Amino acid sequence: MAVLVFTENWDGKFKKLSFELVSYASKLAEMADTQTVALSIGEVEEDELKQLADYGAEKIVSVSRENLRQLDNQAYTSVIEQVANKEGADMIVLAHNNVGKALAPRLSVRLNAALGSEVNQLPSGLEPFTIHKKVFSGKAFAHVRMKSEKKILTLAQNSFGVYENLQDPDIENFDPDIGDDQIKTKVNNVEKHRDKLLLTDAELVVSGGRGMKSPENWDKLQELANELSAALACSRPVSDEGWRPHEEHTGQTGKIIAPDLYVAVGISGAIQHIAGVSRAKYIVAINNDKDAPIFELADYGIVGDALKVLPELTEAIRKARS
Ligand SMILES: Cc1cc2nc3c(=O)[nH]c(=O)nc-3n(C[C@H](O)[C@H](O)[C@H](O)COP(=O)(O)OP(=O)(O)OC[C@H]3O[C@@H](n4cnc5c(N)ncnc54)[C@H](O)[C@@H]3O)c2cc1C
Repeated sequence: MAVLVFTENWDGKFKKLSFELVSYASKLAEMADTQTVALSIGEVEEDELKQLADYGAEKIVSVSRENLRQLDNQAYTSVIEQVANKEGADMIVLAHNNVGKALAPRLSVRLNAALGSEVNQLPSGLEPFTIHKKVFSGKAFAHVRMKSEKKILTLAQNSFGVYENLQDPDIENFDPDIGDDQIKTKVNNVEKHRDKLLLTDAELVVSGGRGMKSPENWDKLQELANELSAALACSRPVSDEGWRPHEEHTGQTGKIIAPDLYVAVGISGAIQHIAGVSRAKYIVAINNDKDAPIFELADYGIVGDALKVLPELTEAIRKARS
């Protein structure tokens, strides 16, 4: 028995979500009185791998084959399946993001395992195995019983938290049985975002909604973000209209984030948006409608025209800092 956790890295550095996944898997393993095994695919240095042990990984399986350095859903599914079988894992934890959502159902079929998607806390019990998840954009909760011997869980990002649990890890390099012909995706060229903060890892986020009026006004938000060294985000209509890329939209159908500070500018505060940002420690809202629902959630609010408030706020922060 073991809990296997699939971690993700970005250029050889683990994403913050990996530490949250390992924290979750390790608490799950504690409940089940079993071991936590972390799987890393890609070229990750040993010192970086060891970081997984700070959050509870007792064993780390590293797959660093050249032809597996880019995500290929079928090939990665096969690697996870092989490691799960080798380690005797009967619970597998992945992130509820684009990667996890693509891999988990495939694994579920291969391993004949029930799939519990978007869980946001530990199971309320192991026998029967009952998971807890939000439904209807967080308006209700569901308790779902999983009856199969093997179980796969995808964890909602930023829903559990990161907990230290220092271990002395056993690191194993594993060479999976996968031929080149099984890898269907070939990446010819990679263009990296430079100087761009990963939204899900950012501690400060400045976000704009339809109240920003047009994409030309975004430089005002960008200036505030630069001053705070914050990542940029937006509401869904903004990305639907093509004002900003979809990778920036937060909410039920977008990124789920938990920064220390979320500045919502010209965002109404619809429940589908709040579903992605409600775990922020502090929310500051700027809106010209004093009755906008975002003010019910905000810790601080400014009622006013965003296009006038933003430059003044940026200047005030600049002065305060100097
Ligand atoms: C199934 C489903 C899933 C969805 N998923 C998401 C999701 O993941 N994320 C998401 O964001 N939405 C999502 N939505 C859409 C959501 O319901 C809202 O329509 C959306 O969040 C509204 O975006 P908004 O606040 O930017 O725009 P609006 O609702 O148009 O609000 C604009 C706000 O800006 C204010 N404003 C206007 N002018 C100014 C100004 N000059 N200065 C300051 N304030 C100003 C207005 O008072 C208003 O409060 C989803 C909807 C559905 C049905």
